[in-house]
Amino acid sequence: MRVLIAEDDLTSRIALAGVLRKNGYEVVETVNGSEAWKALQQPDAPRLVILDWEMPEIDGLEVLRRIRSLHPDQPFYIILLTSKEDKADVIIGLDAGANDYLVKPFNAGELRARVEVGRRMVEMQDALIDTNNKLAYLATHDPLTGMLNRRAILDHLHKELARVGRQNTALAVGMCDIDHFKHINDTYGHQTGDEILCGLAQIFKAEIREYDSAGRIGGEEFLLITPVPTGTDCMPLFERLCQQVAGNQIVTKSGELSISLSIGVACTVSGGTVDELLEAADKALYQAKSEGRNRVAQHGEFLPEGVLQCVS
Ligand SMILES: [Mg+2]
Repeated sequence: MRVLIAEDDLTSRIALAGVLRKNGYEVVETVNGSEAWKALQQPDAPRLVILDWEMPEIDGLEVLRRIRSLHPDQPFYIILLTSKEDKADVIIGLDAGANDYLVKPFNAGELRARVEVGRRMVEMQDALIDTNNKLAYLATHDPLTGMLNRRAILDHLHKELARVGRQNTALAVGMCDIDHFKHINDTYGHQTGDEILCGLAQIFKAEIREYDSAGRIGGEEFLLITPVPTGTDCMPLFERLCQQVAGNQIVTKSGELSISLSIGVACTVSGGTVDELLEAADKALYQAKSEGRNRVAQHGEFLPEGVLQCVS
């Protein structure tokens, strides 16, 4: 683990670094507060920090206060190094955000032991952050396909709708449904059905752009959200997706299978709610199904130049 030392006194700095290196730590040395502050703002800054209190330019206490105002995702563990033994000073240091303090001249064994406490804290925090990230992923992703789940894609739609409302631009949603999916499950079994869903998720991933988002909202139903700059046509994305799905076979344990998608598209400028938008997309999906499937149908009128008129 890396430790950052901020200490202006050369003798003390050499002694600190020596003890730490002897105990297997990688040491980043800084010689004053401003150098330390600069290093700590880097994205890969060491998380374990030993700060001398009295330093030129910016003192340790001020560096400490600045660090605590950063609120990084992964917090620092900071040991304040001080020649002040007065309890009132110790309290000031801890109140400013230090996790621990060490009085100079320090004892090598005590330094090692206190840094070890910090290392354990940082490792525990990392494990906790890792667990939280995994839980957040599980809460927002469909376990089968890895796509956003229903809750996450609808949350995203709420946010996107609020954003286009503020910016007075448009948003299109496509309700996508695999044609005759029940027939696939009945004929080849649910495992093959699952492979089809995963294969379709790969096609979605390949076709959508970074500003589009897609999620699985039900069994064989997917929602695709795309921002539509004013005056542009949102239909080509959906048409292309439809063609890609129909034109590519999906490899399954039952062999290579062809599927098709029906997509109902609705578009809103502003003022519409999520429910209204989804209802309009559902109506368009119903229309795509009733017109023969493997196609895109839109809710709304086409303008003469081919642009889908958004529903306001
Ligand atoms: Mg000093």
